[in-house]
Amino acid sequence: MLTSLARSSSRRISTGNHLLPQGALAYIGGRWVDAESREYFEVKNPFDGEVLYKTANCGVADAEKAVKASVDSLDKWANGTTAKQRGAILRKWFDILGARETELATLLTKEQGKPLAEARGEIQYSAAYLDWYAGEARRVYGQVVPAPVLNRLHLHVREPIGVVAIISPWNFPTAMIARKAAAALAVGCTLVIKPAEDTPLSALAFAQTAEEAGIPAGVINVIPSDREKTAEISKFLCDTHDVSAVSFTGSTQVGKILLSQCAQTVKRVCLELGGNAPLIVFDDADINVAVNGTVATKFRASGQTCVSANRIYVHEKIHDKYVEQLSKAMKEKLVMGNGLDAATTQGPLINQRAVDKIDVLVADAMGKGAEIVVGGERGDRGCGFQPTLLTGVTDQMNISGCEIFGPVAAVRKFSDEDEVLRHANSARSGLAGYVFGRDAARLQRVSRLLQVGMVGVNEGLISCAEAAFGGVKESGLGREGGQQGIDEFTNWKYICTQY
Ligand code: NAD
Repeated sequence: MLTSLARSSSRRISTGNHLLPQGALAYIGGRWVDAESREYFEVKNPFDGEVLYKTANCGVADAEKAVKASVDSLDKWANGTTAKQRGAILRKWFDILGARETELATLLTKEQGKPLAEARGEIQYSAAYLDWYAGEARRVYGQVVPAPVLNRLHLHVREPIGVVAIISPWNFPTAMIARKAAAALAVGCTLVIKPAEDTPLSALAFAQTAEEAGIPAGVINVIPSDREKTAEISKFLCDTHDVSAVSFTGSTQVGKILLSQCAQTVKRVCLELGGNAPLIVFDDADINVAVNGTVATKFRASGQTCVSANRIYVHEKIHDKYVEQLSKAMKEKLVMGNGLDAATTQGPLINQRAVDKIDVLVADAMGKGAEIVVGGERGDRGCGFQPTLLTGVTDQMNISGCEIFGPVAAVRKFSDEDEVLRHANSARSGLAGYVFGRDAARLQRVSRLLQVGMVGVNEGLISCAEAAFGGVKESGLGREGGQQGIDEFTNWKYICTQY
């Protein structure tokens, strides 16, 4: 397909070095097709509003075709290939992502806005999941269970759950698909992918590389749609009995809708939802380590990550020193601009709605007594917002209770371990948390007591393919990555044989 696309040069536009067909397209049953309705929607660069592309605006009719293609290809993929063969295809795909890193990352930066170095990191992170699950495919072990009676063999075996619908967000447009797809494909599932409306191009490009790696027709299907059609497509994917699991990454609000829709068919649901991460800096912390960790977790993707430090608690003894050093680091390291420029470390936010939200949160905090130490303003152009440091944050400010999802570090003082833990655990969500300090016993104690799915101890960047990613409370259900990621896409079967 890549070859035939490359031949029709008059229908192509450049998205970096990578070329996608113009007016494109959805990927269904191994073919690049228009939506049944022949409708399209625009994909824009959030830095300058340039229209990058018009892509197929799929509806329920297209989702039906994609589900049918997944059902039709399931038996051959699940039962007609060995784990070793599936692993070999995933490994080849891993190699292709490595070879095409620059073009995929450039496309990602253009449609999402993040700096090119981060986009490269996202492609490498995505590839790491393909590599990890290429190996894990061969380790989906069952159990021989000692039988309670003579002459019986009791086996537990694991089987692929079936067709999986993936609904993904815009903040990591490749990685949030790769993390799910790698595990699901390794165990023999087939996929219908509904990418976020702001970033469908990375999903289509990812499917192109899958095709090149030898993933058979119908095993992966991608159906982009605009925001309006998204709700009806997602409802269809939840309602149909042909889809066995829905794996979603996105907001808690939408996750709850999908969870209730899936109740009708009692589907497996994996939800990777919003966070509200506490970051605690104790009085014995190495301030440099704490500041570097804060910058890493807070300002990656301009603060638009689910694991971004949302509530920063600093012990009163070192608060002023920490604020001074964080402010200095932000001024030295954070450079706003076009993600394609090498100097840029802070790309735009995803759209104007996101900028408006941050603006309102900052104004509300200032109105209630917070102090701006750095930033606080919209950028000069596009969807930029200055990296911002707020101090004196209190519970009365809206910024304390919600997922900020932007480049604002909201700092407050604390004096006591119990008090800070109580406060950190008061959130309804529980995805990631961070602790900085030197007292090993306290670091372990606090790590265990934090009500979150993941903890970074003296570390701001914690996610990797080998470890289980996921949250507790309203941050979701299930895990991605590690051995645990396989669980989401397999069913246990018990086989009892008399001999
Ligand atoms: P979102 O919930 O608005 O959108 C996510 C996906 O859901 C998109 O594909 C969107 O088209 C679709 N969607 C939107 N409305 C829908 C509806 N009514 N019915 C069905 N589907 C619908 O989230 P977003 O703004 O794209 O992403 C940001 C959120 O994602 C943040 O809350 C962030 O914390 C969360 N997130 C979580 C993780 C994690 O691993 N836990 C990772 C990345 C992002």
